[in-house]
Amino acid sequence: MTKAFNINSIVRESVKALKPYSSARDEYVSDGSEMIFLDANENPFENGVNRYPDPYQRSLKAVLAEQKGVSESNMLLGNGSDEVLDLIYRAFCEPNQDNIITLPPTYGMYKVLAGINAVENREVLLTVDFEPDVPAILDKVDEKTKLVFICSPNNPTGNSFKKESIEKLLVYFKGLMVIDEAYIDFSEKESWLNQLEKYPNLIVTQTLSKAYGLAGIRLGICYASEEIISILNKIKPPYNVNQLTQQKALQRILNEDAVQQEVIQILEERTNLEQALQSLEFVEKLYPSDANFVLAKVDNADKRYQQLLEKQVVVRNRSTQPLCENTLRFTVGTPTENKTLIAILKKL
Ligand code: PMP
Repeated sequence: MTKAFNINSIVRESVKALKPYSSARDEYVSDGSEMIFLDANENPFENGVNRYPDPYQRSLKAVLAEQKGVSESNMLLGNGSDEVLDLIYRAFCEPNQDNIITLPPTYGMYKVLAGINAVENREVLLTVDFEPDVPAILDKVDEKTKLVFICSPNNPTGNSFKKESIEKLLVYFKGLMVIDEAYIDFSEKESWLNQLEKYPNLIVTQTLSKAYGLAGIRLGICYASEEIISILNKIKPPYNVNQLTQQKALQRILNEDAVQQEVIQILEERTNLEQALQSLEFVEKLYPSDANFVLAKVDNADKRYQQLLEKQVVVRNRSTQPLCENTLRFTVGTPTENKTLIAILKKL
């Protein structure tokens, strides 16, 4: 049976009771006139960054809203999606009481953040074909389960999960479903963004660190209902996205065509890399990828990892992850980098 979703029933008590910090610029409403700002103890001499940034990143959100078709009140921006994920834990999980569910092999930060926030991490392995095991997940849920983390396309396996499995979880799980779409721009599968209105318990996270090529500026995005976003806004550090990041992110998202061109090139290069890997004797299996990396099962991952390192190539050895014994994850590089990698692999 479908259960009604009530956000208040899952917010942490301390967050419910919290009166958020009110920053200097929250306390007046601009009518557009030129103002003299003597409210925030800043250095008044202009150098481009002497003022605090917009705490709500309005210019950036306005452009994102237009491109993604999501209202600004359904967005929260953070210092990378890692900050956004941490805020979700802190808003909804009672330390030493609540639990969350992750689906290994998956992105390692969900577990680390559970540890930091003193929240039990219940792990439900993906099936052998790297799909969520829906009955096993629902079986692990109890009244203290606040979050389920779904990474789709998944890191490190590279595949997107079946829509029907995610839909089932959205319907039957009465906590929050966090769908991490860090790699969605490389996938032909539809984003879950346009399902936000249908599912009040859905949170979608995205990042400018991957397809947008801005890992260095740290900009992550959380999309969710207005209720969820207003709770996260209550607890976020007031100026969590700095001025330089806001400017650089804005320039880049306005240059959609350049991003798209790079994505196309990366996908072409992924195909080249897949073909090359497939032809190698020591590669036993290649997993289909919907992302900018490829996971390969090899004869001896530790040995191959070391051999590549000796040739100054760093890949990710994922062998310690469940279901990933003897696997290496190759991020798709530039055409030149990939050529070099392939030449080295052929000589191993
Ligand atoms: N989610 C996934 C699935 C990732 O693989 C990564 C980074 N490798 C992140 C989130 C973190 O992204 P950000 O750089 O925005 O913190």
